[in-house]
Amino acid sequence: MFDRPLKILVVSSEAVPFAKVGGLADVAGSLPKALAIGIEEQGNDVRLVLPLYKHIEGTEYLTDFPVPLAGELRTCILRKGRLDAHHKGKTESVPVYFTGNYNYFFREGIYAFPDDAQRFAFFCYAVLEMLPRLGWQPDVIHCNDWQTGPIPLLLKTQYKSNPFYKRTATVFTIHNLQYQGNFPPETLELFNLDKDYFVPELLEFYGTFSFMKAGILYADVINTVSQTYAKEIQTPAMGEKLDGVLRMRSKDVHGIINGINYHEFNPATDPRIHRNYDLNSIEEKMENKFALQKEMGLPFKDVPVLGIVSRLVAQKGFDLIDEIADELMHLDIQLAVLGTGDHYYEQVFEKLRQTYPKKVGVVIGFNAILAQRIYAGADIFLMPSRFEPCGLGQLIAMRYGTIPIVRATGGLADTVTEFSPTTVSGNGFVFTEYNSRELYAAIARALKLFRDNPEMWQRLVKKAMSIDFSWARSAVEYIQLYRDAIRKNEAALRTA
Ligand code: ADP
Repeated sequence: MFDRPLKILVVSSEAVPFAKVGGLADVAGSLPKALAIGIEEQGNDVRLVLPLYKHIEGTEYLTDFPVPLAGELRTCILRKGRLDAHHKGKTESVPVYFTGNYNYFFREGIYAFPDDAQRFAFFCYAVLEMLPRLGWQPDVIHCNDWQTGPIPLLLKTQYKSNPFYKRTATVFTIHNLQYQGNFPPETLELFNLDKDYFVPELLEFYGTFSFMKAGILYADVINTVSQTYAKEIQTPAMGEKLDGVLRMRSKDVHGIINGINYHEFNPATDPRIHRNYDLNSIEEKMENKFALQKEMGLPFKDVPVLGIVSRLVAQKGFDLIDEIADELMHLDIQLAVLGTGDHYYEQVFEKLRQTYPKKVGVVIGFNAILAQRIYAGADIFLMPSRFEPCGLGQLIAMRYGTIPIVRATGGLADTVTEFSPTTVSGNGFVFTEYNSRELYAAIARALKLFRDNPEMWQRLVKKAMSIDFSWARSAVEYIQLYRDAIRKNEAALRTA
């Protein structure tokens, strides 16, 4: 029974290339393609649905229909586009649906509006109202992050007796537990639920209605983007106050590491970098280093270049770098930073650049081209995160032969291990305690190898470039997770 092809609907509030705020967009844009091409022999039917944001163009009108929200009917304008996936000379298209409403989505920006509860409640209802109209009955609805948390809730409450959804299971993926979608108690009314649901055992979360908690409580299966993060979020220290709920569902909480898009992130073909290279022409990486130095106003020098491409927020551990910055600047190194985020961290790096203009290059902003030039031109990539659900930066860096220095947390712990020149095992440099001395020691170990043993460094670079972090692997694990969710839903039907 489980060998039959699956119908999978991925629901997300962002996906590359249509809308991107963070790593969720990379996952939601890549996973459906990997599911469609990687396992084509299985013939799975994968589709994606997103809100129709104002800036999204080139879509085709399909239909419109009413969506019930807090006792009123709102119009959903349904449009369609597609995601093309290229594989072995063939192109597979993933259908993409866009649920539009002028009131909720026809504005600049994606999140952080006062009516976000209404906007994403509308999105969740629109998805469930859309499917019967399309006559397309998914086996699994794969929900992502708080914006989609109410979908599993609605399927287990309001839509429970709807025969169309009887055999539809849900998977809820947590990409970052810190962003929870917690709203005032009246939010309950948007979902037509009576007050009995507003208790701590159910939807109440410290006096608020939590979209994230709804997803965790009602999905058939929950997962997050690395095995270590799946364990960490079940502890009080890292559970963002939801650890109790997650522990309660512990046997249904899984971890699947994200992949990266191997077509987009390929040093042999990437048009954004100065000189393409592969395993057999790693010496060309040096040309990328010189080009990066020029672009960032740094002197041409064959010194180790440490790169950072990141949101500049507390999560990413930059206060550790701040603490040891002066000490680092006494070493013969250069630092190339690209990022945007909190003014505080932007200033930390700006000041560092002003104090050490010959050693530090900083660009504040979001720049997908410069990002690739740093991944290609740097020798070392810094990611000392306080917490990191999966992390894509370290994966992209390794693909470009840039060696990561990371703190052992979440997905960083699952993808980077300490390099040992004796056994030639490991692929980077790792520290454990969140403390700047440990970070400094890890940087010192990396620099020592870089200087004292260039041959061994080259072996390390080749090793890092050879590891498979493509989506194909993770897509197979997702299929297993979907089948698990279907089994759970079927079992619940039998006992109901
Ligand atoms: P998060 O999702 O927490 O921001 P990830 O490491 O999972 O962190 O993903 C970040 C992604 O965004 C990576 O692909 C990284 O290269 C990219 N990125 C982050 N900041 C910038 C920036 N300022 N300019 C271009 N790309 C960026």
